[in-house]
Amino acid sequence: MAKVDQDYDVIVIGGGINGLTAGCYLQKAGLKVLVLERRDEVGTFCSTQELLHPGAMVSVHANGLFSGVGPVPLDLDLDRFGFELLMPGPIVYFAPFKNSTALAWHWYDPNVTYDVWKRVNAKDAETFRTISKSVAPLLESGVAAEIFKMMFFQPMTDESFLQVQQLLDMFSAMVPVFPKDALYMTGVQILNEMWEDDRSKIFVAGWPITLAVDITSRIAGSTIILMMTALMAGAGIACVGTARGGSHNLTHALARCFVHHGGRLLAGCPVAKIVVEGGEAKGVALSKDAIYPEAEFKARKAVISNLSPYPTFIQLVGEDKLPKFAAVGGRNFDYRGSPLFTTWWVLKERPQWKCIDRFPEIDRGFSFNFGAESMADVLRMDEHVMILDTPPDPPVNLGYCIHTFCDADPTQAPPGQYNVLTWANVPTTIRPLGGPQKWDDIREDYGDKVEDSLSQLVPNLKRARIARYCDTPWDTWRRNPSSMGHMSSGYYGERQWWSWRPFAGCNAPRTPIAKLYISNSMGSISVTSLGGGYTCAKAVADDLGVKDRSWWVSQPGDYTKLFLQRIGANAKQIA
Ligand SMILES: Cc1cc2nc3c(=O)[nH]c(=O)nc-3n(C[C@H](O)[C@H](O)[C@H](O)COP(=O)(O)OP(=O)(O)OC[C@H]3O[C@@H](n4cnc5c(N)ncnc54)[C@H](O)[C@@H]3O)c2cc1C
Repeated sequence: MAKVDQDYDVIVIGGGINGLTAGCYLQKAGLKVLVLERRDEVGTFCSTQELLHPGAMVSVHANGLFSGVGPVPLDLDLDRFGFELLMPGPIVYFAPFKNSTALAWHWYDPNVTYDVWKRVNAKDAETFRTISKSVAPLLESGVAAEIFKMMFFQPMTDESFLQVQQLLDMFSAMVPVFPKDALYMTGVQILNEMWEDDRSKIFVAGWPITLAVDITSRIAGSTIILMMTALMAGAGIACVGTARGGSHNLTHALARCFVHHGGRLLAGCPVAKIVVEGGEAKGVALSKDAIYPEAEFKARKAVISNLSPYPTFIQLVGEDKLPKFAAVGGRNFDYRGSPLFTTWWVLKERPQWKCIDRFPEIDRGFSFNFGAESMADVLRMDEHVMILDTPPDPPVNLGYCIHTFCDADPTQAPPGQYNVLTWANVPTTIRPLGGPQKWDDIREDYGDKVEDSLSQLVPNLKRARIARYCDTPWDTWRRNPSSMGHMSSGYYGERQWWSWRPFAGCNAPRTPIAKLYISNSMGSISVTSLGGGYTCAKAVADDLGVKDRSWWVSQPGDYTKLFLQRIGANAKQIA
């Protein structure tokens, strides 16, 4: 320890992308920051490894990077530190079905989305057009940026939730097809009321389900379904892509930025305890397995936990140091809803979609979902994940599976080879099968089921397969115990929604312990937008009265505009 300073202004526990983001902002603002990471490399859920085949880069967790929707890449000048967002083509998301139809979302030209939809269901295409005509101009005039800001880049308060509800009331008044009492309905009720065809409902519900939003709930379910609908109808808003070389490109850019500004980053340093005295966080102690066993570090001004609620409050702070409501909140945080079973393939041929002749648009699509052919499949999946605790059979892959992006970025696979990644929605604990460790026994069998299901849409999948790699929720848990085997968010339903995240009264990113803050995406809804780290850094800087923030000025939407310019694209209005 002789050469390691043990005294800092701010200590960040966990070098995930949100912890690094908070560290970068505060270090750049002139504070002395230490980031302590348990593993040998930072960015656990935003990493890329050569796991299954030489030259095939596997981004084991985050793949669809949302960082472009927010202010972080510009404020931190991440391009200068090597961050390069890439989009393989303009179709950001699509859903192929067994009867050789498909829906697709063009991210800046709603006319293409409409055209595709019309080939599947003319009535739903008109619904889409009506929505796009009414809400797109409003969204593009700054309302979309405002929504992103309220969701990701400021604390989720009662005030901001009221604002969101007022916005949605306004949309409901403006858009003839929006249900008028939407906020009193569940997400599923809204889907049923707005769309005729189950394929349209599945398409709209896919992303929210991956974010662990309970679409059978009121408030959370209805808000997100309406927001998703509006987002799809807007143009040039959903700036989501991969990064050159894989997702770790984002992590490495953040780490370089942090170190460049003088931050101290120590890997191999699991934190075992947050030191709390007199109701105030004072520092941390490392575990006996750390490279500096049981070392203590002092934090003069703030401790930021980038871990999820249970480890932060129950394991590191300890119930005896918490007010009762926080002990109850930390103990009972509901993680269900977002565990994923990942299957990666390296293919020696381009995947050939069965529906490609009728829907050529999807060929360069970025993300897709499959496996649900009707709403009954969606609800079957939900029942397995939330109630039965067994993996759905056949699997359902909702949300965004990633199509091959090797054309856009040849560094992610050897020449002539293609990567395909899918995520099946499954439970983590699988108690009826013997507990989460049983995933080790059923991994390959379940991978076969996913492969059979995708083969019905991509007939050359098995023939073209060079290698396959499956990653289970138990692997996720082992790699990152903070996640407890879950993806990112924790359950989003009525009882864990907005200002009630991670639990009522927490006041995230602040906490009931003075000088202790949280930045993990489970405390918010941020995924890779980097909003968890941004919001946390802002709260710390505000509380400390940090002045040096002249560079801290970008707004959600700024990067997206620049990105559109860079790729020579213009947001279009629907005809
Ligand atoms: C399978 C999967 C797929 C995903 N796909 C996407 C996607 O496509 N798009 C998207 O936007 N998001 C996706 N996500 C979610 C996204 O990866 C996360 O929301 C995001 O990376 C979380 O970052 P974070 O910094 O909040 O938390 P984490 O990455 O969880 O950061 C916590 C850090 O703390 C470290 N740590 C744990 N315990 C300790 C300890 N005791 N002491 C010190 N350090 C510790 C961990 O190693 C980790 O580095 C996915 C997640 C998973 C699991």
